[in-house]
Amino acid sequence: MKRLLLALCLAYSPLIAAQNLLPEVRKFVKVDSPVVALTHVRVIDGTGAAAREDQTVVLSHGKIESVSDAAGVKVPSEAQVLDLHGYTVIPGIVGMHDHMFYPVGPGSFGEMSYSFPRLYLAGGVTTIRTTGSLEPYTDLEIHKAVEEGKIPGPKMHVTGPYLEGAGSWALQLHQLSGPEDATRTVNYWLDECVDNFKAYMFITHDELAAAITAAHKRGAKVTGHLCSIGFREAASLGIDDLEHGLMVDSEFTPGRKLGECKDEEDPVLMGKLDVTSGPVHDMILDLIQHHVAMTSTLPVFEMGTFPGRPTLQGRILDALAPDARTLLLERIVRSNDAAAIRKRYGTDVSPWRAAFKKEEEFEYAFSRAGGLLLAGLDPTGMGGVLAGFGDQRELELLVEAGFTPVEAIHTATYNGAQYLGELDHIGTIAPGKQADLVVINGDPSRNINDVENVETVFKDGIGYDSAKLIDSVKGQVGIR
Ligand SMILES: [Zn+2]
Repeated sequence: MKRLLLALCLAYSPLIAAQNLLPEVRKFVKVDSPVVALTHVRVIDGTGAAAREDQTVVLSHGKIESVSDAAGVKVPSEAQVLDLHGYTVIPGIVGMHDHMFYPVGPGSFGEMSYSFPRLYLAGGVTTIRTTGSLEPYTDLEIHKAVEEGKIPGPKMHVTGPYLEGAGSWALQLHQLSGPEDATRTVNYWLDECVDNFKAYMFITHDELAAAITAAHKRGAKVTGHLCSIGFREAASLGIDDLEHGLMVDSEFTPGRKLGECKDEEDPVLMGKLDVTSGPVHDMILDLIQHHVAMTSTLPVFEMGTFPGRPTLQGRILDALAPDARTLLLERIVRSNDAAAIRKRYGTDVSPWRAAFKKEEEFEYAFSRAGGLLLAGLDPTGMGGVLAGFGDQRELELLVEAGFTPVEAIHTATYNGAQYLGELDHIGTIAPGKQADLVVINGDPSRNINDVENVETVFKDGIGYDSAKLIDSVKGQVGIR
């Protein structure tokens, strides 16, 4: 059913796309020989297996042809050879909370149709799920333009407009009028070729139930950033994935009425929850039993939670437009204001610090118990979490949460591909798969921060110049 849906929506051939790259894309291409040999490279293949040293990876006509010890391999004579001593390749990242929009003012978000596709690709993200769309038609057009070789960017699974209920704070969202509206909305957007949906904070039980039924009937999946509905309630309705983790689960709020969204996370309460036993652990097991995935979005929570964290990197400030940069700096100063924290919480240390730590513990426990953990960035919140850069930060924070670097990379590649039903052709470095892989200077299996040193990103065997892509969006994020 899913294949039927996709087949009607987009007849995609990577080879045709490769031949048809327009100059606007071609200028970022560094390697485009039909056959390429990456020699003497360290391979982290995305399966969770340990890094393998001194490998040769042969790419042929958009696909991975072979992965083998460099010593024994005969490199095809027609291959362009890249000697990658000191480099590592990982599979292209599959970003699972990767919006095309960015906060441009209080409660207002602008579509970054120019800068974000470039930044995702530059950051090593070769496939994204947009996970909630404010301009679904723009996202669909970006998708089409990338596939047709008109703009540089990642492969896209476009999510429909947010499925939101009455009472929302967000002006850019349609508020459903009931279950019939939910069914109608889902079917309309499936006809328009989205393949995922995201329920939002104020959706009702009946609306969510109707949306899930309609989506599943046609092979699409539903995730949620929920508030009016607790995680276990959503699992019982058949939801496929939950965004953000424990931080947004309302079911542990004392005195909460069913169906109510107070739209206020309680970091003090959250910091005290036990994730290894009791109700939270029961919830984890319940979700796993219902095959509900969980999307980690640690970068958006890190921003504004810790004084001095994250380090405000020059590359982020450079990418921001002057107004966006000012807005971000003001917000950081405000969120770190000790007097305000003392006044609000009666302590000198913000309770968000413990809540963030708890979120990390929760995600680790969910994965260890057998849950499918997905990785995203969520480029919203206070701003400063940017396409591509934020996906790399997510890997670093998964390691902080307790995963080994190789496990974190597995989460951000293999797991996403599995959820999207694409594991047969992306998500790992293996013969026969699409040649989507990221060339990194250094060894992220030892130091995960090396994932920031992306030099070349292969998508369907074509190598894009990361630095050039980043350079092309300087001062643009926040505007376009
Ligand atoms: Zn989101």
